[in-house]
Amino acid sequence: MGFFNDLSKKTTETTTKIAREAKLKMKITENKGKIKNIYEEIGRKIYENHVREENIDVNKFVNNDCLKIDELSKEIEDSRKEILVLNNKKMCKKCFAEIEKDSMFCPKCGEKQMEEKTVFERAEEKLKEADISPNNEKEAEIVKKELEQKNDEK
Ligand SMILES: [Zn+2]
Repeated sequence: MGFFNDLSKKTTETTTKIAREAKLKMKITENKGKIKNIYEEIGRKIYENHVREENIDVNKFVNNDCLKIDELSKEIEDSRKEILVLNNKKMCKKCFAEIEKDSMFCPKCGEKQMEEKTVFERAEEKLKEADISPNNEKEAEIVKKELEQKNDEK
């Protein structure tokens, strides 16, 4: 019966992957929308400042908005990276080309690729450390979920 068990496990993994990717893509779209709103807000603030003819330091005036955009951009970058990982790909740090996860060098620009552990790989390691045997899969799932949540909070 091993074959059928493996098969259903594979199917579940694929479904989870697709759901996760969809969730990440949604988050990217959401964050892009938020950034667009902040851009508008910055524009509005600067124009209002012009109308009021107040002598305000414009950079300071919109600094918080810019910081928010930094944060959202970082989140978009993280989501993109995770999607690549889900598809067994990664991004070259130098030329941003999509390359195979296991590549040691970028086929486009030749840049050496540093090992970067994914949340799943870290979970896997943690499981190994904790010596959780395969018949304890439920616990394994919980640890993985916790790690995923931690990653989301960042
Ligand atoms: Zn490259």
